Parts: sequence; C-alpha cells; structure tokens
Amino acid sequence: MTKREEKRHLTLRQQKAEKIIDKVLQFKVCEQCLSISFRRAPTCSVCGAYRFDERPGTVRETARKMGTIPFPLTSGTVPRIRIEDPETRENGRD
Ligand SMILES: [Zn+2]
Repeated sequence: MTKREEKRHLTLRQQKAEKIIDKVLQFKVCEQCLSISFRRAPTCSVCGAYRFDERPGTVRETARKMGTIPFPLTSGTVPRIRIEDPETRENGRD
C-alpha cells in the first residue's frame, strides 16, 4: 500500500466511522473481534461470534478508533474495550 493509497483508505474509514457515530444506536461491537455490525445482524459477519456489546459508548469509541487506523480492528490486535456507559448501565450488563 502506497502512502497515497493509505491516506485514501484512512479517509474512507473516517467517513464510515462518522456515519456509525451519527447513528450509534443502529450498531453493536463484536466482543470477539471488535468489528462493528448492524444491531439487526444475528452474528458477526467477520468472525461468526454472537456476543455483542451494544452500549452506545462502546460503539462510539470503537468507531472513533476505527477511523484512525487504516486496518480493521480484528483478530485481537487491540485490547478489548470496556467503557462504562451510564446510558445503558441499569439494563443488567456489567
Ligand atoms: Zn466478530
């Protein structure tokens, strides 16, 4: 990947991240590979896992990070994200 291609790809990822952040309630984060999926998806399209974190703070922060790295946040290449989100705290999840 040339520098120019990397920059173009990163710009695309930033644009996608902004769309996700704008509609954060439509998305969830795979707890296995940290991919962002539509909430209506029953399993992760990347790894097939079925456990997701739907807290808006987690989706927002994952999307924000996704927009700053020109590669997918998958395969455990980054630490698992645990963010306290007061918006959804009372629904029984840790
Ligand atoms: Zn996954």
